[in-house]
Amino acid sequence: MSLVEHIIAGKPTTGSTDARAPIFNPATGAQSGEVVLGGAADIDAAVANSLEAGKAWAATPPAKRAAVMFSLREVLKRRADEVARTISLEHGKTHDDALGEVTRALEVVEYAAGITEKLKGEFSRNVGPGIDTCSDRQPLGVVAGITPFNFPAMVPLWMIPMALATGNSFVLKPSERDPSSANLVHDLFEEAGLPAGVLNVVHGGKEAVDALLDHRDVRAVSFVGSTPIAEYVYTRGCAAGKRVQALGGAKNHMIILPDADLDQAADALMGAGFGSAGERCMAISVAVPIGEETADRLVEKLTPMVRSMKIGPHDDGEAQMGPVITREAQQRIERMISAGEGEGAEVLVDGRGLRLQGYEDGFWVGGTLLDRVTPDMTVYKEEIFGPVLSVLRSNSYDQAVDLINSHEYGNGTAIFTRDGDAARDFASRIQVGMVGVNVPIPVPVAYHSFGGWKRSIFGAHGIYGPEAVHFYTRLKTVTTRWPTGIRSGAQFNFPSMN
Ligand code: NAD
Repeated sequence: MSLVEHIIAGKPTTGSTDARAPIFNPATGAQSGEVVLGGAADIDAAVANSLEAGKAWAATPPAKRAAVMFSLREVLKRRADEVARTISLEHGKTHDDALGEVTRALEVVEYAAGITEKLKGEFSRNVGPGIDTCSDRQPLGVVAGITPFNFPAMVPLWMIPMALATGNSFVLKPSERDPSSANLVHDLFEEAGLPAGVLNVVHGGKEAVDALLDHRDVRAVSFVGSTPIAEYVYTRGCAAGKRVQALGGAKNHMIILPDADLDQAADALMGAGFGSAGERCMAISVAVPIGEETADRLVEKLTPMVRSMKIGPHDDGEAQMGPVITREAQQRIERMISAGEGEGAEVLVDGRGLRLQGYEDGFWVGGTLLDRVTPDMTVYKEEIFGPVLSVLRSNSYDQAVDLINSHEYGNGTAIFTRDGDAARDFASRIQVGMVGVNVPIPVPVAYHSFGGWKRSIFGAHGIYGPEAVHFYTRLKTVTTRWPTGIRSGAQFNFPSMN
């Protein structure tokens, strides 16, 4: 059984505590290893090391920092299969889905490799007589990332390349449920030539997170995870004087107008609702067909598709979806389906109680399709984070827009239609951060930034892209006058052109 250790100063260490958490293979349900759970002493050691290693790194020319990202790109491409396998063994997602995660992470690495362009400052000559002003953006120091289980390589790689390229050093606290990918990410950076200590990894749960949030030498925290923890991290981190961006949970709706290509919409709902067993913050969990006829036709198409979905372990090349992350998640999702049924939803396809031959102890939930879901149901209000698609029938487009705008979350959404006017109106009125028009999972490319609205995000900055350049740097403006022989005497008024 493997033991996943912290990596501090480039070396694995069990750290200061005896605390351990089990790691499971979700497909078999068998324990595959343990992860050490760090405490304040481990965070202290990692932050002190990052602070020290960060001094030379911050002084390294941006082009040389970018060179590490260029070589990381090659390393990541060469080792993509290994990364995908590591993800799948602890997360459960299919190999192709895990490769997709690696590909999206690569985009961020490529963007970070162009950091020299983003760090170019601004210069104004003659802002006053013989006076010039320049501004540039400088690194913060040690920054931290706290990441969720569902993208154990991609979400760390949303943060680390941008934080490092802008000149910071980084302490990563990954999810304790699938922690091996984080150590592998560390090794990829090491192979790419990153000096030891510029990236440290400390495993753990609440104790490690609290120590990071309270640590005086941690200047900024990027968090991705569920909304209650995002809000907690934001509040506590801000109270400790840090810059915090905390991305939370989601309930993503897709409106299907009567003029939409329903075959295309049904395909899109399958992938966006059930890919990665619904464990994506951009998963579509609510389909909102407009009008009874559209709803009937959509449900008629979806029902056999959900029923015949191929579910299996990550190395089954036919599998379209794998297990969920833990036994607790499996039980919670099944309870949510039952609650929906109890509140009046029609269970058209029931994924409860699925047992897969040869994998009887795995954490499986079958694809589930609920019809006639209403806004007051728990199954609608709460994030399920499992392979459950709800159909909420709406009478009109305006009613559907109001529905989405009233939901506490605002991460992603989509509309399927051929009507350009409706699509344009939707994109402007909808209170959601990432919008797709006939695109079900509108995760922005790396040169735009990712971020939801409302209780799907706390803090002013989205993640990766141009927003990350701002989040991980602070502005410095230098105003310069060289002695020219002009002497104007002491000036007691506020400096101005007059
Ligand atoms: P989670 O909130 O349980 O855990 C996220 C991180 O917080 C982990 O590192 C965990 O160790 C830590 N943590 C957990 N409980 C804590 C506590 N009480 N105090 C301090 N730290 C704590 O999230 P998860 O289950 O790992 O991930 C799934 C959630 O993440 C879903 O809600 C999903 O929507 C969300 N998510 C959001 C985005 C986004 O970009 N908005 C992306 C991916 C996942």
